Amino acid sequence: MGQDGNKREKKKMLPEDVKTQKRTAASIPIKGAGEVSCAVAKRCGGCQWMDRDYQEQLHEKEKQVRKILTPYCRLEGIVGMDQPLYYRNKVHAVFGEDQKHRPVSGIYEERTHRIVPVDSCLIENQTADAIIVSVRELLPSFKIRPYNEDTGYGLLRHVLIRTGRISGQIMVVLVLTSPILPSKNNFVKALLKRHPEITTIVVNVNYRSTSMVLGEKEQVIYGKGYIEDMLCGKTFRISPKSFYQVNPVQTETLYTKAMEYAALTGCETVVDAYCGTGTIGIIASDKAKQVIGVELNADAVRDARCNAKINQVRNIRFYQNDAGRFLLEMVSQGVKVDVVLMDPPRNGSSEEFLEAVAHMAPGKVVYISCNPETLGRDMKYLTGRGYKAEKAVAVDMFPFTGHVESVVLISKVEK
Ligand code: SAH
Repeated sequence: MGQDGNKREKKKMLPEDVKTQKRTAASIPIKGAGEVSCAVAKRCGGCQWMDRDYQEQLHEKEKQVRKILTPYCRLEGIVGMDQPLYYRNKVHAVFGEDQKHRPVSGIYEERTHRIVPVDSCLIENQTADAIIVSVRELLPSFKIRPYNEDTGYGLLRHVLIRTGRISGQIMVVLVLTSPILPSKNNFVKALLKRHPEITTIVVNVNYRSTSMVLGEKEQVIYGKGYIEDMLCGKTFRISPKSFYQVNPVQTETLYTKAMEYAALTGCETVVDAYCGTGTIGIIASDKAKQVIGVELNADAVRDARCNAKINQVRNIRFYQNDAGRFLLEMVSQGVKVDVVLMDPPRNGSSEEFLEAVAHMAPGKVVYISCNPETLGRDMKYLTGRGYKAEKAVAVDMFPFTGHVESVVLISKVEK
């Protein structure tokens, strides 16, 4: 989950960046797509594995997860993508100026203070990339200057695009240093003329010198201010700041596996711990008696409640709390839980949470993990407290990066 934060490091632009793109090209064979290559793979740092064959990547990830889970259970295998390109539904570009004050857009070079100009990326939604190029091309005629970190002048800092895979809806977020976009209506008109597929445009104001892309204040300048997308037959609302998995194809694979492992019959009380915007719990709600979602982030909880309403789910409740503290409270109130679905961030679960699970003694725990290391640590704890792992599967949510997701079915040992 956790590798899609809103944080960015402060970086500067070097004039030779445009010219040097070609030099670092890495080529990779992709089934059905021939040979593809990325000109900036080495400098961007987003895809640590861009030069590896996709089957080899899957093999390596499977090996990693198997090594960690070997003491506990069998790994069923890894589910990769048939088409591992252009999967990201959320695309971010930083804007700046070159030495001649011409607008540039792209990505921050890893660990340096430079913007690497990028017009297209092999793992990003292609329409989103095209919209970013259009925004950049429109800037001069509207006399909108990108923000220049050195001088402090300029208006446009970032553009964030979010796309709905099933709905086809597209949101453009323009991150500005001030709330006023000159010739706003004409700019919107010009952008829509090039991309009629855009369904909403939001201005976000971020005037602070911070590593966060988005600021607090927002103004919707076109459409509803959010998009919707579907996962496993349910609809979810995505606002500029909402957490939403970046690879929707594999998210569906992951959630479907989690549901298969949970094998709900309609009679269970289910906890969706670390529930984010409620996606897993809402998907589980059809097959459960009731679902209790717990999440620390207040905005995510608000989105989760809204998502429950959109889907007319009435057997789910969301609580804003630390998952460990909340579970301990449930234990002290004697609440009986049959299944715990847990999807913690990269640093895994807390001992308090695992302790509470052991006391609560649900028949099943379905652990969704984005970090095999912390999964291994938490497995050690649970298997020492009356639980055993039954089976596991790895899912490649982030092709061309070293990250891997896994789902483990853990059940209570009968006494
Ligand atoms: N299950 C969701 C989100 C998982 S990401 C999905 O698939 O979309 C992990 C979530 O855990 C984040 O939303 C984060 O805000 C939340 N989180 C982190 N620490 C937490 C804690 N101590 N207690 C509860 N939630 C926490």
